[in-house]
Amino acid sequence: MSDTKAITTLSLDALPKIATGKVRELYKVDDKTLLFVASDRISAYDVIMENGIPSKGPLLNLLSAHWFKVLPTLLPSLRTHFLTLSLPSSIPQSQHDLLQNRSMQVRRLKIFPLEAIVRGYITGSAWKEYKVSGTVHSIPIAAGLKESQAFPQGAIYTPSTKAEAGENDENISLAKAAEIVGQEYADRIEKLALSLYTAARDYAKDRGIIIADTKFEFGLDEETDEIVLVDEVLTPDSSRFWPADKYEVGREQDSFDKQYLRDWLVKEGLKGKQGVRMPENIALETAKKYREAFEKLTDGNWEDAVKK
Ligand code: ATP
Ligand code: MG
Repeated sequence: MSDTKAITTLSLDALPKIATGKVRELYKVDDKTLLFVASDRISAYDVIMENGIPSKGPLLNLLSAHWFKVLPTLLPSLRTHFLTLSLPSSIPQSQHDLLQNRSMQVRRLKIFPLEAIVRGYITGSAWKEYKVSGTVHSIPIAAGLKESQAFPQGAIYTPSTKAEAGENDENISLAKAAEIVGQEYADRIEKLALSLYTAARDYAKDRGIIIADTKFEFGLDEETDEIVLVDEVLTPDSSRFWPADKYEVGREQDSFDKQYLRDWLVKEGLKGKQGVRMPENIALETAKKYREAFEKLTDGNWEDAVKK
């Protein structure tokens, strides 16, 4: 895996492009189906690096696919947007090597404009708020919690808006979430997000990873009125993963994936700067951490996963 192999831009003529996110490109397969393609782009402190992390796209894509298979076994009523890892027949053979493993076909759905964030452990912005006001997301929390401690009452749901490109997501109250999507859907989304987090947290803990918090997105199947789990799910990009063996309350935890990159950016005075190129050793160390998270969570070996 060398630096030059990271794929940060993708061009695909066979399908119309619908959107480009920080990491993913979305293509239309047909009216009901999208091809979700994950690039190797990486952002830190909200800035996308010039070069990518080799195999990060496939790692994220196959980890999401793993969860889309595992979660319905833990929560049998769960519906997800996942269809297949196979490529649509319209993709020419010449692009299979590029797209295989980094793409999945998903059901195209109407997305609820909410980020369903669930926090099991107090850290990041939640810890900052708690230190000042004793609340998290304006919810009063027991006194005396230490940094990185699990919330004593169990996981909490702290929704935010889904901001347009270039803008920041904004925390919103449950009342505001209900205003945006309607009370009934807001209640169903909250309940589902909490059950998903709890199931995933226990699954990951057994495999040496603490999922401190995560973000889910949901869509609506308008034919059946079912709420469907969409987007990427329970990856290092959408979650805070901590190595369980290094966990200790009362201090910040190393994140599983981006710690090398963040430390390097800070050391070099490059935090928040545009146009930064990571040196090869930083990119490779980061790739290793993504791979370690993948292998722990899937009980598998990365080389075997990409051979399939
Ligand atoms: P960011 O760059 O901050 O990640 P993003 O989350 O919008 O922004 P990506 O994650 O790169 O961008 O792309 C995924 C996009 O696809 C999201 O906007 C998400 O809401 C949308 N999406 C996810 N699943 C579906 C689906 N099944 N149908 C339609 N849109 C979807
Ligand atoms: Mg996203």
